[in-house]
Order: sequence, then C-alpha cells, then structure tokens
Amino acid sequence: MSDAIRITGLSKTYAAQGNAPAKEALKGIDLAIPTGSIFGLLGPNGAGKSTMINILAGLVNKTAGKVTIWGFDQDVNPRQSRAAIGVMPQELNMDPFFTPRASLEVQAGLYGVPKSERWTDELLALVGLTDQANAYARSLSGGMKRRLLLAKALVHRPHILVLDEPTAGVDITLREMLWKNVRRLNEQGMTIILTTHYLEEAEQMCDEIAIINHGQVIIRQDTQTLLSRTDGKTLVLDTGGPVTLPPLPQGARSEIRPDGRLAISYPPSRLRADQILDVLRVAGVPIVDVATEQADLEDVFVELTRD
Ligand code: ADP
Ligand code: MG
Repeated sequence: MSDAIRITGLSKTYAAQGNAPAKEALKGIDLAIPTGSIFGLLGPNGAGKSTMINILAGLVNKTAGKVTIWGFDQDVNPRQSRAAIGVMPQELNMDPFFTPRASLEVQAGLYGVPKSERWTDELLALVGLTDQANAYARSLSGGMKRRLLLAKALVHRPHILVLDEPTAGVDITLREMLWKNVRRLNEQGMTIILTTHYLEEAEQMCDEIAIINHGQVIIRQDTQTLLSRTDGKTLVLDTGGPVTLPPLPQGARSEIRPDGRLAISYPPSRLRADQILDVLRVAGVPIVDVATEQADLEDVFVELTRD
C-alpha cells in the first residue's frame, strides 16, 4: 500500500458551548501519508493538529470529509481502520488505580488481542517500565505515564503509530529513549506520524512534513525540499572593529549584530560567498574570522505561519 492514510476534504466544527462560539478547527484538509514514513505534522498552537489526530484515532467525530486508514474507510470499516492505528495522545489521561501491566492488558482486551498474542512484558521492557509493572499508575512520574501511553498505543501492533506532542515537557533522557524506540519501530516497517513543537526534532526525525495553520494545510513537502525553500545564507564576519562597507553585490544585505559582528545575508542560488568576500577584501575590510549560518526549519516555519 503506498499511502498509510488518506484524508480528503476533512472538516471539523466544534459546536458552540455556553459562551464559547462554534469553532471551525479543520477547514477541508487533503493529505496523504506514505506508508513507511516518519511524517511530521507541524503547526502553531490551536492550528488543529490534535483535532486531526483525534479524528484519525476515532476519538473525535468529523463534520465532513473522508478518512481512509490502511485502505479502510473509517465510516465503512470503523473496526479495521481503528485496528490499523495506535495513538499516543497529548493529554495524560489514565486510570489512577490500574498498574501499568493491568492498563496494557485492559487495552489489549479492548482491541480484542487474544491472550496468546499479547506482548505485555516486551512492551513494558521496551518503554523501560519493567520495574514499575505492578505499581499504581498514580504513583508514576509524568515521564513514566507518557511511556505507559506509548506502550498502550502499541498493544495491538498497529501498522501506524501516531504521537501527539510526545516530547512536550519531558526530560532529555526520555526524549532520547522515545526517539530511539520510534526509529526502531519505523525500521521494522511502522509508519509514524508525529506532532512536535521542537522544529529541530522534526528536522532530524521526519522524512516528510505538513505544516497546518488555522485548520488548513499550508505546505506539505519532503523535509529536504522544505528546508531548501528559504533561499538564505548568512556570512558572519568578525572585522576586528568598526569598518566602512563597500557597495555589496546585488541581493546581499548587511547588518551589524549586537555583538559587533558583521552579518551579510545572501541568496545562495544567485550569489556565492567568495563573490562577497572578494568585494570586502578589495575594499580592505579586515576579516579576522568567518562563520556561515543556514536557514533552518524554524525560519521556514516562521515565514509560512506569519499572519
Ligand atoms: P493544536 O493541537 O494544533 O494545538 P487543536 O486541534 O487542539 O490544535 O485545536 C484547534 C482549535 O479547536 C483551537 O481553536 C481549539 O481551541 C479548538 N478546540 C479543540 N478542541 C475543542 C473542543 N473539544 N471543543 C471546542 N473547541 C475545541
Ligand atoms: Mg495539540
């Protein structure tokens, strides 16, 4: 199957409640997520990411549109489409009286996984909760609860794993454990969809990225193409003190940074660094040190989601 998930014309309007007016959270989303990819769903707070993920998970009812998961139309084959996907939600919602082991067993029961096909102990080991297997969930730390949520998402061995802000507010050790596991699951063939606030993380982890804003997909590209969108590089020069600048080649812009260094931005598609450096050298501008900076996903994101 080439697409693990296919979404067409997906809309969601939350009904008005009390003083809160109705909210159109998704406005006709079209998106295909390739099988085997690590797919990043990015967007500012309130963009509609969790709404979309919760619709995929069958937790929120859509207002309009079509969702096909692993070839199964969500409305025609709800059971099969649910079985294909495992979701680690953004919210920590769990029964405080269940132990991690019991939580996993209950979840497996909900998904109709026969006892002989359960992999509770392996899952507990995978997320590093073997020692806490029989502790009450309410005694677990926030990080342990998140790890339990990951294990719960995996009980039925889904083809697709969805992680909603899995690393928001978690410490670096947990983050690394999480990404190691996600990479390994992906290498074993699982399609991964994740939302994250950490753009650097998305840049490193995701093969493809969709950015959504105000309930619409504003761009969807493979990560490398997305990164090359901003045609911008910056030369940062230490000139050893104030200098008088010569006219720079067309397209180059200069500014003095607060630390006194001279920053010259230029479009690498049209200008080369040595053309700029030559002009400076000919004009007798001393160059004590040079560094270059490249636009990253953060720049692309800011540019695209600026209102
Ligand atoms: P994101 O995950 O990208 O931050 P959400 O999907 O959580 O965005 O929210 C999208 C919009 O829908 C926001 O304006 C949010 O306030 C609204 N929203 C989310 N859940 C509900 C709900 N249960 N009822 C009403 N409005 C909601
Ligand atoms: Mg969210």
